[in-house]
Amino acid sequence: MDNMLEEIIDTFKTYNPSQDTALIEKAYDFAKKAHEGQKRLTGEPFFTHAVEVAKILLGHKLDVETISAALLHDTVEDTSTTVKDIEINFNKEISDMVAGLTKIDKFESTSTDEATVENWRKMLIAISHDIRIILIKLADRTHNMKTLHALPAKRQQEKALETLNLYAPLAQRLGMFGLKNELEDLSFKYLHPEEYAALEEGVEKKSEYLDKKLTKFKNALGTVLENEQIPYKLLARVKSHYSIYRKMIKQNASFSQIQDLLGVRIITDTALDCYRALGALHANFKPVAGSFTDYIAMPKINMYQSIHTTIFFEDTPIEVQIRTEDMHRTCEYGIAAHWRYKLGSKADPHLDEKLNWIRQWIEWQRDLTAPREFLESFQTDINLNQIFVFTPKGDVKVLPEHATPLDFAYLVHTEIGEHYSGALVNKKMAKMNSELKSGDVCEIQTKKHAEPKLQWLEAARTARARSKIKVYLRGKGIDL
Ligand code: MN
Repeated sequence: MDNMLEEIIDTFKTYNPSQDTALIEKAYDFAKKAHEGQKRLTGEPFFTHAVEVAKILLGHKLDVETISAALLHDTVEDTSTTVKDIEINFNKEISDMVAGLTKIDKFESTSTDEATVENWRKMLIAISHDIRIILIKLADRTHNMKTLHALPAKRQQEKALETLNLYAPLAQRLGMFGLKNELEDLSFKYLHPEEYAALEEGVEKKSEYLDKKLTKFKNALGTVLENEQIPYKLLARVKSHYSIYRKMIKQNASFSQIQDLLGVRIITDTALDCYRALGALHANFKPVAGSFTDYIAMPKINMYQSIHTTIFFEDTPIEVQIRTEDMHRTCEYGIAAHWRYKLGSKADPHLDEKLNWIRQWIEWQRDLTAPREFLESFQTDINLNQIFVFTPKGDVKVLPEHATPLDFAYLVHTEIGEHYSGALVNKKMAKMNSELKSGDVCEIQTKKHAEPKLQWLEAARTARARSKIKVYLRGKGIDL
């Protein structure tokens, strides 16, 4: 067994000690032979790429089939191997994954806008069959971004832009925040090299100061939590380059003006401990007004759960996220964590429910025919800023920021949307295109003869409402 294979098997055994790894070993040998003599633009043997992709997935503790498919992922695309060969030598599960990945790659080579989006749509449809395809694709893209320096400048820009616009949001949507941050920072480096370099220098210069600050805060916070006998583990970090950059753009500020560069996570045992930790935190450090959000009581649609708050520590704002170990795993590894537990002993009974959003989302997209539109709605819906709006009965509906009463109506039920005649927001008449806020109570009024009109598209911001309105209008013979 050569060193690289040994490393793969050893890593796999750390989280799955009793499983047979023969398939992985076979995939390794098969792919190594298939790629023999091929080199990447970086000058390295091509096969190292497959190994690196597999390693990223090992980091997410994925199963034998996924690791095997990762090793094989470029064999059909780049060698004389066929999907049938993979099926015969391995199994249908693995060959289906490789076939899915090959399909995505075919589209990728044509870089016009339309093709990219079509590719994207195909990929989303593929994921709804087997989520592991997208996990491999994300790992593949991560490694390609890490070695992007070898490509010509024009390709670097295209890849970086595509990564920032599509892959990073997808990772986010899947709840894989670790990968998302990595993809964003890698894209940022190529898309805005000067800003990236300046930021890196800025962070570097301040790093000693920031490290000291963090240590001091961790000590102070540790004492507070110990006094309350709340079990804890603290994770601290300087925020990612891209998230600082985004803040600078949003606030139209320079690096030196950005204050909250630091984030701390409190990992504790139970949801109740999270709230106790929050109480202790706010009792000892002044919170920044309006910074508090409870995603434990109201999880984000991508399964994300955590309490967010920002407090002042010696005049420095520090963002604090509080979560349990379970929630943390979901935050870091997102859907991959759930996939893993579906297979493992700790089956997650809610997995299907949690995967539903993606199927549903694809369903809503089916009617969006123009690639532009599809892309826009993907990016709008991916927006993590969500608002929570209540029905008069007190049910909570989760909507993206900037959603309107019309979006709300369609979310409650298509029938309600289609017969929309007016809305009361907090018991006051509100326009169809007014923006809802978290905490609003929204009551939709309907009329039997009301029906969707072309202007409604201006009031609808969510993919769901827009696509339903379009279907209706097209049904009436209106050309869109
Ligand atoms: Mn690849």
